[in-house]
Amino acid sequence: AQERYSSLRDQPAQAKCGNIISLHMNAGLMADLPSLQGSGAEGVGLFRTELQFLVRNKMPRRSELSALYTRVLDAAGDKPVVFRTLDIGSDKVLPYMKPNDEPNPALGWRAIRVGLDKPGVMRMQLQALIRAANGRPLTVMFPFVAQLEEFRAARKEVDKAMAREERLGHVLPSKLTVGAMLETPSLAFAPRQFFEEVEFLSVGGNDLKQFFFAADRENERVRRRYDTLNVSFLTFLEGIVARCNETNTALSFCGEDAGRPVEALCFAAIGFRSLSMRPASIGPVKSLLRRCNLEDVRTVIETAKAQGEMSVRAAVMDYVRAQHH
Ligand code: PEP
Ligand code: MG
Repeated sequence: AQERYSSLRDQPAQAKCGNIISLHMNAGLMADLPSLQGSGAEGVGLFRTELQFLVRNKMPRRSELSALYTRVLDAAGDKPVVFRTLDIGSDKVLPYMKPNDEPNPALGWRAIRVGLDKPGVMRMQLQALIRAANGRPLTVMFPFVAQLEEFRAARKEVDKAMAREERLGHVLPSKLTVGAMLETPSLAFAPRQFFEEVEFLSVGGNDLKQFFFAADRENERVRRRYDTLNVSFLTFLEGIVARCNETNTALSFCGEDAGRPVEALCFAAIGFRSLSMRPASIGPVKSLLRRCNLEDVRTVIETAKAQGEMSVRAAVMDYVRAQHH
């Protein structure tokens, strides 16, 4: 199988209907980057910057961060990298930060909430990213945005960092792209302005699903209780696709489910054109997409919904099994 996937490495993830899905990889450490060439990923769709903070025993300095991001961009070459700003709190607690005792950390002071309330670290990180880009394109993505105003405030921090770096005489990125993760259900219902102001959105399905079903992603007892291909969740995702289509907002999906072939197929069938996943999933996802017709899968999904199925999984699996290799 590994061989079959490597023969697909330079082939597009083009479905039988002609639609091409762009496949990116998730990363977070330097050790992940060699996979960028080997996996056939078009780029890094999610670079989890907190991992580099979590593996140390003290807060990195700006110069260290900037050197790290430079190495990431050098390794990526012409391939785009989406840097997600620090996503700490909840399950990711920095050993050198005072832990805050919260009754519900997943719903607590985390990610962009920390970044906006105590902007020191986020400012340092943005400066390090701008310096590392050093005239190359830079893409920044904010995690855990729950409403338009938070995105606006974060975007303002980026603009301030750009102005400051320019004053200091640093070369600015050739192109700056700023987007957000969609991982709280509230964002799917944000005003139209939100969809117009973000340059792209990436669904963080791990968090979005846990909040949608109110089922803790860390809790073994409930984390697999609700199927990602549950009709309610798919319908919710379809709504997000529709809103992004209305405003021409680039949309991708970067949660773990994007790396599961049947899930990836369903996301593509409901209109996602970009998926980001662990590198080892790119081959299997591409292989399945190339065997399927997304319009047919869409019909299978619609039929299962109309029949009142709880999940479309069984119907889509039947379709998949009927496709020839
Ligand atoms: C997600 O929530 O789906 C996501 C990609 O972010 P993380 O898994 O790092 O929370
Ligand atoms: Mg998340």
